[in-house]
Amino acid sequence: MSDCLFCKIAEGKIPSKTAYQDEHVVAFHDISPQAPVHVLVIPRRHVATLHDAGRDAELMGRLMAGVRATAETLGLSRDNSYRVVINCGERVGQSVWHLHAHVLGGRAMGWPPG
Ligand code: 5GP
Ligand code: ZN
Repeated sequence: MSDCLFCKIAEGKIPSKTAYQDEHVVAFHDISPQAPVHVLVIPRRHVATLHDAGRDAELMGRLMAGVRATAETLGLSRDNSYRVVINCGERVGQSVWHLHAHVLGGRAMGWPPG
């Protein structure tokens, strides 16, 4: 989508610090990190929200595989804990309308989130 910030990042038209990429996903460091490690993993194909992905299990599976690969690249693991967050909709904090998974690590975190 020509008007989408994250499509432009995926296409390299807007600079970002890449953490991982493959045929299906791109992962880049968040511009406003909320933890020592804060990376966003996005599908290369434009989908506005998780909800808009419908039942596209391939896209969802590729995204989660990308999250797993990104975590490994960043040195995160079961022992070096990390959290994966997908905000879906304005009320819970989604602000960019291209599906993205936050990968957060490097510090302890409370539960439930605010
Ligand atoms: P959301 O609030 O939609 O779940 O997450 C959007 C995230 O994108 C935020 O954490 C925000 O800091 C990040 N973000 C917004 N604009 C940019 C940008 O231009 N570059 C990067 N790397 N991150 C961005
Ligand atoms: Zn997009």
